[in-house]
Parts: sequence; C-alpha cells; structure tokens
Amino acid sequence: MKTTRRKFIKDAAQSTALATVGTSLLFNSLEALAAQASTLQFSQIALPYAFNALEPNIDALTMEIHYGKHHAAYIKNVNEAIASEKISFENEQQFFANASKLSTKARNNGGGAWNHNFFWQIMKANGGGAPTGKTADAIQGSFGSFEKFKEQFTDTAMKRFGSGWAWLVNDGGKLKIGSTPNQDNPLMDVSELKGTPLLAIDVWEHAYYLKYQNKRADYIANWWNTINWDAVAKQL
Ligand code: MN
Repeated sequence: MKTTRRKFIKDAAQSTALATVGTSLLFNSLEALAAQASTLQFSQIALPYAFNALEPNIDALTMEIHYGKHHAAYIKNVNEAIASEKISFENEQQFFANASKLSTKARNNGGGAWNHNFFWQIMKANGGGAPTGKTADAIQGSFGSFEKFKEQFTDTAMKRFGSGWAWLVNDGGKLKIGSTPNQDNPLMDVSELKGTPLLAIDVWEHAYYLKYQNKRADYIANWWNTINWDAVAKQL
C-alpha cells in the first residue's frame, strides 16, 4: 500500500516534471515531494501469532494492549516526527546510528517501533527450552553454559532500574549481555551496549503489570518459556 503510494508519487513527479520542462518551481517542489516520499518510515509488523498464543506466560490482554496501543503509538509517533522534523534516512540502521542527533520524540518512538517489532519475533507459542546448534555453541563459548547465560541475562533484566530492555547481542563474533534505558537499543550510537540484537526482553511495566504486578522476577522466569530460538539463530 505504502510502496504503491510512493511509486505513484514518484511516477507522477517524474511524468509531470517531463511535461513541464522549464517550470522549475513546479519541478523542484515535485522533486522534493518524491524525495520525501522515499525517506524511511517505520511500519508495525503483523503479530506472528494470536494475542493468546503466549499464555500462560504472557496473557492475551497484555499482548493486545502492548501491541495494539503501546507499539502502535510508537510507530505513529516516530513517523510523525520523521515527517514534521524532515528526518531523512535510507534505512533503520542509519536512523539509529544517528540517534544522538535525533529529537527525543524521534529517538524514543523510533526505538519503541523497532524494539517491539524485534521482540514479537523472538517469541512464539510453545517456545522456550534450550537453543541448539550454532546458537548453543555461541552461548556456551561466550558464557560457559546455557545456565550461566540464563542467570546473567535474568540478572541484567532484573537490575534495569525503571523502564528499559535487556539484550543479548553479537558484537563482532562475541556475544554480550547488557541493558538499555527507555526505548534505546544497541543499534543506537548513544548506547553503551553495541552489537546486533539476538534476543531482548521488554521490562517496562506495561509488558507485565496486568498479570504479574510488581513481580518482575516471575515475568522474566516465565518469559523464557516463550523464546523462539529459531528466530534467534537467524540473526546469528
Ligand atoms: Mn513495550
């Protein structure tokens, strides 16, 4: 839909420009329109499963509000910021690599848009267990064992004060665990933790409060049962 609209605007700009050679003012404004139409926009992925698919670990109502309200708002707000602030990047990587130059609105909502798209994909119905193959090898190589990795990751997610995320990232072949505040992520130039995200947990209260209230530890313990290790392996 969006691509079709962009293509239409581009085609319209090109054909109109050809028909009005010499009308430089019109040409320039159409060029600007075409350029604007091709800038990065964030879009919300379709949830790869039903709202109740992660029960009993994550309840359906939390998923419905989290995906339908919180995540949808980040998407809407970052695209609003991109338009009103005339932010122009080719892709998400470039957007985050320049996070230090973004407005608070663009940075927070851009992070929120990307982080949740990632988060939905690393979970699935009947997930969990332990990883196999190259993921298992990489985790063992970096942390000694899966149990030690799980302990360290859980501890990091527990200790993130206030709202934020805990991550497993691949930093040039070495796996690292860390956390980011708010909606920051390891792709941002402002982030202390850097690398390609492999796994993430949202520890904002909106991610668990309806079912778990103040018991973040229980949420994290049950979240391990939702992990889609095949999706994690794809990032490696
Ligand atoms: Mn969230």
